[in-house]
Amino acid sequence: MNVLVWFKRDLRVEDHPALALAAGLGAVLPLYIVEPDHWRQPDTATRQWEFIAESLGDLRGALAGLGAPLVVRVGTAVSVLEKLCKAHAITRILSHEETGNLWSFARDRAVADWARRAGIDWTELPQQGVRRRGPARAAFLAQGPVPAPAALTPLGGVEPGLIPTARALRLAEDRCPHRQAGGRVQGLALLDSFLAVRGRPYRAALSSPVTGERGCSRLSPHFAHGTLSGREVAAAVEARLAARPGAGWGGSLAAFRARLSQRDHLLQVLEDRPEVETACLNPMHAHLRPRDADATRLAAWAVGETGFPFVDACLRYLRATGWLNARARGMVMSVATQHLWLDWRDAGLPLARMFTDYEPGIHWPQTQLQAGTLGIDGARIVNPVKEGQDHDPTGAFTRRWVPELAEVPDLFLQQPWRWPGSQGFLGRKYPEPLVDLAAAARAARATVQAVRRDAADPPRPPRAKPAVPGQLSLGF
Ligand SMILES: Cc1cc2nc3c(=O)[nH]c(=O)nc-3n(C[C@H](O)[C@H](O)[C@H](O)COP(=O)(O)OP(=O)(O)OC[C@H]3O[C@@H](n4cnc5c(N)ncnc54)[C@H](O)[C@@H]3O)c2cc1C
Repeated sequence: MNVLVWFKRDLRVEDHPALALAAGLGAVLPLYIVEPDHWRQPDTATRQWEFIAESLGDLRGALAGLGAPLVVRVGTAVSVLEKLCKAHAITRILSHEETGNLWSFARDRAVADWARRAGIDWTELPQQGVRRRGPARAAFLAQGPVPAPAALTPLGGVEPGLIPTARALRLAEDRCPHRQAGGRVQGLALLDSFLAVRGRPYRAALSSPVTGERGCSRLSPHFAHGTLSGREVAAAVEARLAARPGAGWGGSLAAFRARLSQRDHLLQVLEDRPEVETACLNPMHAHLRPRDADATRLAAWAVGETGFPFVDACLRYLRATGWLNARARGMVMSVATQHLWLDWRDAGLPLARMFTDYEPGIHWPQTQLQAGTLGIDGARIVNPVKEGQDHDPTGAFTRRWVPELAEVPDLFLQQPWRWPGSQGFLGRKYPEPLVDLAAAARAARATVQAVRRDAADPPRPPRAKPAVPGQLSLGF
């Protein structure tokens, strides 16, 4: 049997159930499809493609080592698959189950329809601790990583195809000078250094972008594009714990393990409720914030020109690196949706484009969580002045990313509008704050509380004035 293994967001040969299964079935054609329509979607960015392109280079080498080099094609999934299946008598396609955005969901449905009509068997296998038809998370993890096949029988006569550059794909310029490099080799190096040295202070380090840059695992783009699997990382953590790594490690590894399970938990939200990308999961909040309401405010926020120093530093850092620690991601989204009262979808898209590790299954539930539209939580209002003081206590991070603040004394760094020398500085060298923080927070809290109150206790029709006994009621 000739089998096509369709690589999507699983760019590795280790712990790859589809590849392992294919190896025992017959001749294998490993394929990656570059889909221009995907790269036209508003949540995609060139930095993500560049990470993927580097990872494809690595994957090509690994597959060549197994005997069947990677084939790369550009086009729609249906047209590429149809052509290859016809040309090479392929009767079975194997891939991983993708928990992606609404675009990839629709693409997969189109592929499933075509495969049914063409009599091709397309089997999707779980690759995360997410339940579709597969086992629950604990059982999935307990199965352990699947080793890479020892060798593959290649399907002959297939031109491998180039991995296109961003320029060839006509992707927009996207300057990200400190982007993490793609490829499994990079992912494994990060995993090793995290488990050997960097991870020790993880629990204390993860809340700040200053300490998180080194103290967090930095594995997120590798998970998002599948150069590492969640299961192999979970297994490596268990092995490290079993080796009794010593003082300081236990709490950090437990905290890290909890994050891995939070990842699967949120991916499950998207798997079960794909509309989380576009609709408030709590309908009570559906019309609270107007869509596309204030493009100027949104643009100022996205480029780090809000006038709130720590927010601006975090957004500029993110733009330049493609990464930010989780707490700071929550803060920038809270400021966008609570203080600036922007719709979470409007703010979520530019944020997604800044992440090399954009993962719809984490991003949209987290975005809604911060906006308070996911469940029954109230407004999540984070004070960016306090965040800056707590998580950049020396101010070095803020000053590095917002150099315009050089002349502002330390005491006023996170709230330059309080600095007695701010006249002539704010609005010229650095923006005036977009809103009054305290007033905006009060307004957001009051609006959300009013909606919750109305939902809990819907307004009743006005009752008729009780008539005073013995008098003629005139009805007013
Ligand atoms: C508004 C918002 C949007 C986010 N969007 C994304 C996104 O698009 N892609 C993405 O990978 N993460 C996202 N996160 C979660 C988190 O910020 C990143 O996973 C983390 O910062 C990545 O860095 P790391 O790999 O060093 O994480 P570590 O702290 O080392 O954690 C290890 C892994 O655990 C998972 N993880 C960590 N924190 C969270 C979390 N809060 N929720 C769910 N899983 C978590 C990730 O897979 C991460 O790689 C978002 C968080 C917020 C608040």
